[in-house]
Amino acid sequence: MALSSWLVTTTNEEVAVTVSGLYGGRPRRRDRQQEAIELMLDRDAIAVNIDGPGSVINRMVLEQEEGRGPIHVCDGSNLLEPMGNAGDPCGCPESLFGRKAAARSGHGPKPDSRLAFRLAAAPGVGMFVLVSSSWAFFDSLSAAVLDMERGASGARMEIRLQRKVVTTRSGMAVSYVHPILSVAEPDFVAPGHLQLVA
Ligand SMILES: [Zn+2]
Repeated sequence: MALSSWLVTTTNEEVAVTVSGLYGGRPRRRDRQQEAIELMLDRDAIAVNIDGPGSVINRMVLEQEEGRGPIHVCDGSNLLEPMGNAGDPCGCPESLFGRKAAARSGHGPKPDSRLAFRLAAAPGVGMFVLVSSSWAFFDSLSAAVLDMERGASGARMEIRLQRKVVTTRSGMAVSYVHPILSVAEPDFVAPGHLQLVA
């Protein structure tokens, strides 16, 4: 389920305080027994540093039931696993519509994206990992990896929550939130310049 804002989880209290100071949010422990500290950020856009294509794992995965491992792992067109079949056409539908329909019915894989990054405003606090099953995030990661492979890496990137409100036939407004990775705007440098999107 998509959250409506960024949720940061850390076991390090100092990291939680630094992140809270930069992007808002009140650090709190999930429960007394656990080490994890959570905070929901007040910002939609976060400037990040990404080392290169190796920081991205972007796959489409169909899991078996009962955690017996994946039965289909591909990039949308070609198999990524098992190693012996890597590169073979995977047979997924070409259209996004077809892929989404297959995933919804349980016959096709859905995105499994992981992005490792540092906060541009505080690279010293360490590495974060963003995990998402959003189709939009999958597409934005694919595009970013292509750019990085073409040598356009090193550009300041940002992760951003995109909000979309769709009105259903019955007139009900439904809002969707999904993350995307994109090249940051040129003036998007200091944390003080972070744009708030309502
Ligand atoms: Zn496939």
